[in-house]
Amino acid sequence: MDLGLRGRTALVLGASKGIGKACAMALGREGANVMLGARGLAELAATAEEIRQETGARVEIGSVDVTEACQCEAIFGAAKTAFGRVDILVNNAGGPPFGSFDSFNEAQWRAALELNPMSVVRFMNLALPDMKAAGWGRIVNITSLAVKSVLPGSILSTAGRLGVIGLSKLLADEVASFGVTVNNVAPGSILTDRVRNTSLKARLEQGMSEEEALADLAKTIPVRRIGTPDELAAMVAFLASEHAGYITGATIPVDGGVVRSIL
Ligand code: NAD
Repeated sequence: MDLGLRGRTALVLGASKGIGKACAMALGREGANVMLGARGLAELAATAEEIRQETGARVEIGSVDVTEACQCEAIFGAAKTAFGRVDILVNNAGGPPFGSFDSFNEAQWRAALELNPMSVVRFMNLALPDMKAAGWGRIVNITSLAVKSVLPGSILSTAGRLGVIGLSKLLADEVASFGVTVNNVAPGSILTDRVRNTSLKARLEQGMSEEEALADLAKTIPVRRIGTPDELAAMVAFLASEHAGYITGATIPVDGGVVRSIL
């Protein structure tokens, strides 16, 4: 299926590795120009080269900590300078630390809320004027299955991400008539460094090998395996496509069936 993205420009945040990198690769494969943002330029440069080699897409990079408003403005401006406009915005970055409610102080809460929802609010603010003027835009936010089903220890993440879900639902309504869609993708267990450093780490510390840890994690997933970043990115690319123009305000799990809730 041709997703109709040739010549479109995507800004993908948290794009040096993991889910963000896979999203940038998938959009590049569909012929979109891609601006990659993350904090470390060296890793970003290597990722950009890999995407260029594999897809032939035009790829630019910018250093950004999405919790810093002026850096968000700078990378958005750089994307416009490089490609003329941003048609597709993929909001993605790392998650806050895990822990119980009583383990976090006010500063940690503020830091988590700067990541979600505030970084998402900032990039939406930057992207929407041009998308509305052009009569076309796609915003996809990477969230977590924790917005569908409680994940113990994820209190900072869940509180902030539910803000993203709420604001996206309302924004979807406000901008639908301009041809702009706003959707969320909710990953379950997708094999990235974040999972290696959280779900798998706990199992490795119990003495399991990586293979055993993956098999143990897979037992909790109906499809009996962990997902790949490419599988998540395929959903993001589809939501960014021409074909997804009638899907907006949705939160779609990509989780191998883990979330059992009906709604
Ligand atoms: P990852 O750690 O592999 O990659 C995170 C990327 O975000 C990196 O490029 C990193 O440099 C960048 N980043 C982190 N903080 C940033 C900041 N402040 N500003 C700019 N860039 C920043 O993580 P991942 O597994 O790809 O996860 C991506 C998102 O999906 C995270 O929000 C994570 O919580 C969420 N998620 C992932 C899973 C999973 O199974 N991998 C499950 C649920 C939710």
